[in-house]
Amino acid sequence: MTHNFLSPLTGSFAMPAAENPTVAMIEAAYRHHGLDWRYLNCEVAPSALADAVRGARAMGWMGFNCSIPHKVAVIEHLDGLGESARIIGAVNTVVRRGERLIGENTDGKGFVAALAPIVDPAGKRVVLLGAGGAARAVGVEMALAGAAEIAIVNRSAGRGEEVAAIIDANTPAIVRYQPWMSRYVVPEGTDILINATSIGLFPDVEAMPDIDADSLRPDMVVADGIPNPPLTPFLRAAQARGCRTADGLGMLVNQGIVAIRYWTGIDADAAVMRRALLDLGL
Ligand code: NDP
Repeated sequence: MTHNFLSPLTGSFAMPAAENPTVAMIEAAYRHHGLDWRYLNCEVAPSALADAVRGARAMGWMGFNCSIPHKVAVIEHLDGLGESARIIGAVNTVVRRGERLIGENTDGKGFVAALAPIVDPAGKRVVLLGAGGAARAVGVEMALAGAAEIAIVNRSAGRGEEVAAIIDANTPAIVRYQPWMSRYVVPEGTDILINATSIGLFPDVEAMPDIDADSLRPDMVVADGIPNPPLTPFLRAAQARGCRTADGLGMLVNQGIVAIRYWTGIDADAAVMRRALLDLGL
C-alpha cells in the first residue's frame, strides 16, 4: 500500500497568536471531513512577515489567515486581491491559486453568511455601529450583498466618514455617517442593527453600546460581531425586545467556512466548528 505523507499546509500569521482559537475550529473541520490537512498557528512579528510569506510560498502552503497586525501589511507580499479585500483595503485570508497568492477578506463574508438564515440584506436598511476593521468589512460586504441604505454610527468622525466614503465609492448602497454623541436612538424603519465595535468583548463582558434599548423593535434583526462571549448584553437587550439575533461566534465560524472553501473546495460543517469553539469555553 502506498502512503502520502505530505499534508497540505494552511495556518495563521499573527502577533500575538497564542490566544487565537481559529486553529481549534479549522482543525476540527479538517478532521470531521477526513481531510489530511494541517493548520499551523504561527506567531510572526511585523519585521518577519515578508520572510513568513516567502516561506509559505517555498513550502507550497495552500493558504493562510492574517490577523493583527498583518492585515494591511501583507498586501505588498501578494500577487493580487479579491474584490472585497481590494475595497476593504485589508486581507485576512490568503489563497494559493496556481503559483499566485491572492488576498481575500472573509470577515464581512462570514458575517453575511451567518446572517443568511435569519435575513437577506438585499434591499434592507442597516445601522452599523463602529468604523474599525471589522465594521469596514461588514459594511462593504452588506453593501455588496444588496443592502439599500447603511448608516455608519461611530464615535470618531474621521473613521466613520472614511468607511462611509469607501462604501459610497464602491457599491450602489446609499450610505451616510452619523456621529455617535450620546445615547443612540435607532431610527424607525431600520431592518438590521449591527454592533461592529469592540464593546462587550472579554474581559469587559458587561459593557454595552450606548443605544436606547426602547428604540429596538421586534421586527429588527440585531447582530453582534463580538465572538467572546457569544451572548452579549447587547444581544440580551435585543432578545428582551423580541428581536431576532445573530452572534459573533456565527460570524467567526462562517469566516472559517469561507476560508476552508477557498483552500479545499469543501463546505465545512458549521455545527462541528461552533462546537469546537464552545468546547474551549467561548
Ligand atoms: P478596531 O479597534 O479597528 O475598531 C473598534 C471600533 O469600536 C471603533 O469603531 C471604535 O470607535 C469602537 N469603539 C471602541 N470602544 C468604544 C466605545 N467605548 N464607545 C464607542 N465606540 C467604541 O477593532 P476591529 O474593528 O478590528 O474589531 C472590533 C470587534 O470586532 C472586536 O471586538 C473583534 O473581536 C470583533 N471581530 C469579530 C470577528 C468575528 O469573526 N466574530 C472578526 C473580526 C473582528 P472609534 O473609531 O471612535 O475609536
